[in-house]
Amino acid sequence: MQEVPKKVELAFERWLKGDSNGKKSGKPRFKGVGQYKTFTYSQFQKEHFQNNKITLSKIGTVKVIVHRQIPDGFNIKTVSVTKKANGYYVTLSLDDKTVPTIKPDFDANNIVGIDVGLIDFVVTSDNERIAAPKYLRKAERKLKSAQRRVSRRKKGSNRRNKAIKKLAIQHKKVADTRIDFHFKTTKNLLKKYDVVAVEKLNIKGLAKTKFAKSINDAGWGQFISILTVKAENAGLKLIAINPNGTSLECSSCGVKVKKSLSQRMHNCSSCKVSLCRDLNAAINIKNRGTHDLKAQIMSSLKSL
Ligand SMILES: [Zn+2]
Repeated sequence: MQEVPKKVELAFERWLKGDSNGKKSGKPRFKGVGQYKTFTYSQFQKEHFQNNKITLSKIGTVKVIVHRQIPDGFNIKTVSVTKKANGYYVTLSLDDKTVPTIKPDFDANNIVGIDVGLIDFVVTSDNERIAAPKYLRKAERKLKSAQRRVSRRKKGSNRRNKAIKKLAIQHKKVADTRIDFHFKTTKNLLKKYDVVAVEKLNIKGLAKTKFAKSINDAGWGQFISILTVKAENAGLKLIAINPNGTSLECSSCGVKVKKSLSQRMHNCSSCKVSLCRDLNAAINIKNRGTHDLKAQIMSSLKSL
């Protein structure tokens, strides 16, 4: 019960003041019993988590599957228990005051531009294409059929409730598979490059267009956040550039070449260059990233 007022306070604070980055969330809404899925222990003793067993106050000792060992020197700050479609999950938040802040250490010339899209998930300025993997697309197809099964069945029926449970499990599988793909793609990019330039995406604006479904599916927002955090933790850099005209502008001479969304090639009438439109966009993104990064470095030098 202590949890409820805390959550309400946090919800109002996020709405009125925003989080630590000043990002504001939407207005707090009524939450039904079914939407209350997480509770947190604000204090926890490290000894209560040992040998794949966790002791929770008022609940007792429960067996857990440990996905990652607690690294040495860390204290467990809080413990949250969340109910998900396929079971209960325990999240431990750790505290270590010895972690140093990471100083950026990157080669500004080792930069790549990436164009995120619906056909290929990512096209890089080096003409590398990363498509969403087959297993992810397969999982998404299964999700759709589970969804259809739910809508076919009568509301309130036992069979429908069972189908809903299966759908929830399928949803979780897709989400897990997608986040895994996003982590892998991030890792591969940061292994090769020090700086990644991306378009500042207006996902909310895009999601209102007819591409809404595919945009939410691809989960670009999640991918960009993972990329941002991972780059920062490695002392590397992600730079978000102004997206205006990146697909129209010619990457070799700068002339604007009008094209419709269905036109997959960029053919410049001025300098006669001809290349795939996504690659052309990725090169433009890289060039703008290089330009913006130089400006950032110059201004930070001036302030010294
Ligand atoms: Zn041109």
